[in-house]
Amino acid sequence: MAERIVILGAGESGVGAAVLAQAKGFDVFVSDLGKISDKYKKALQEYKIDFEEGEHSEDKILSANEVVKSPGIPDKAPLILKLKSKGIPVISEIEFAGRYSKAKMICITGSNGKTTTTLMLYHMLKKAGLNVGLAGNVGESLAWQVAEKNFNYYVLELSSFQLDGMYQFKADIAILLNITPDHLDRYDYKMQNYVDSKFRIIQNLTESDAFVYCCDDEIISKEMENWNSKVQLFPFSVKKELKTGGWLEKELLTIDCNEYKISMDKKDLSLPGIHNVYNSLASGIAGSVLGIRKDAIRESLSDFQGVNHRLEKVVKVRGIQFINDSKATNINSTWYALESMEEPVVWIVGGVDKGNDYSVLFDLVDVKVKGIVCLGVDNEKIHKAFDGRVKTIVDADSMEKAVKLSYEIANKDEVVLLSPACASFDLFKSYEDRGDQFKEEVRNL
Ligand code: ADP
Repeated sequence: MAERIVILGAGESGVGAAVLAQAKGFDVFVSDLGKISDKYKKALQEYKIDFEEGEHSEDKILSANEVVKSPGIPDKAPLILKLKSKGIPVISEIEFAGRYSKAKMICITGSNGKTTTTLMLYHMLKKAGLNVGLAGNVGESLAWQVAEKNFNYYVLELSSFQLDGMYQFKADIAILLNITPDHLDRYDYKMQNYVDSKFRIIQNLTESDAFVYCCDDEIISKEMENWNSKVQLFPFSVKKELKTGGWLEKELLTIDCNEYKISMDKKDLSLPGIHNVYNSLASGIAGSVLGIRKDAIRESLSDFQGVNHRLEKVVKVRGIQFINDSKATNINSTWYALESMEEPVVWIVGGVDKGNDYSVLFDLVDVKVKGIVCLGVDNEKIHKAFDGRVKTIVDADSMEKAVKLSYEIANKDEVVLLSPACASFDLFKSYEDRGDQFKEEVRNL
């Protein structure tokens, strides 16, 4: 009898895993506690895959030989605990898909900058003419592509939740951008658990594989002290000059990987801000390790168009530049947004706070921010942090109000920056919805 694979969660990754499992001849069952979207239901029907929605039938699930779990389902969910107590392995879609692919895997994780760096690198590898796919948290699921396409390379964005379900999977190039506190609710509020999860990206690496990491990040550097491995190390830094990896020599991005040397002027990078220097260094190193054409590396770093909702320039209205950084859902990403601003800023901030310490932003706010618009159901913490620090601080309970108020406060040659440092669920469906509403209201001005 065929081995039974049960897939929990019928989103992009779950349905992709089901399609691949079906193609590999497993007995497949998909279960989703919520409603399955029409698109995925249709796919399951087309592929004749057995599924249920609105419930988890334990008799059908506990009979699995192995379970593929969506990264959205916490490890502590009762059903997952039950599976584990019965010794049934629970893995992620990436782990499952990795078994059936011989492609080179370039994997990216970090607390911030994953999507930007993933898309930047994908853009680079395509420009270099490689047969490359994009997967992980962005685009189509890896499993689905492994089932139906034939790429030689994949650029994969990996969240800590995906990494938690990965055991044998091996990256060929692993990139760790940074580690700052995030999602601690899923890690027993223990930072080390979250750090360990991020470091799973280098598990199984061998001598011929590369680890690209930010050595300016204290948490990463400290963790590396205890780490002893023959993997090729390529650190990157904007604070010090290195011998190998990537760094800044004054205004010059410099990459040196196994004698493969590239330099380019920082001002030729298409994306602004020091965080994007990091992202560009990481991408440039990965491109160099792969030995792709130097002009493809330089060109792609200077013409990459960025990703919506990440420091996205919307329009100028009467000389006021509106910038949508709705994806900034934690303090660290907002720090980089403020850091990259060159004109006085009216800052729209607020939402659902994941335990923010706003004092980290005081120095930047003192220098750059002339007004704050608090956009959230509960703005008390923001007032506590910033009342008296900025001239103007006002409240808004809708995007329409927030945009109008910020427009009143800002003058010509100034910036209105939506960089909330918080999740969006109090007033919006998602960060995309928040950013889209922002753009619409700005266009209505
Ligand atoms: P992720 O996929 O890790 O959430 P994104 O690329 O979507 O990262 O960017 C999320 C937010 O973080 C955006 O506001 C972006 O401007 C900011 N950001 C991008 N790269 C970095 C970085 N290397 N360090 C800190 N913040 C970053």
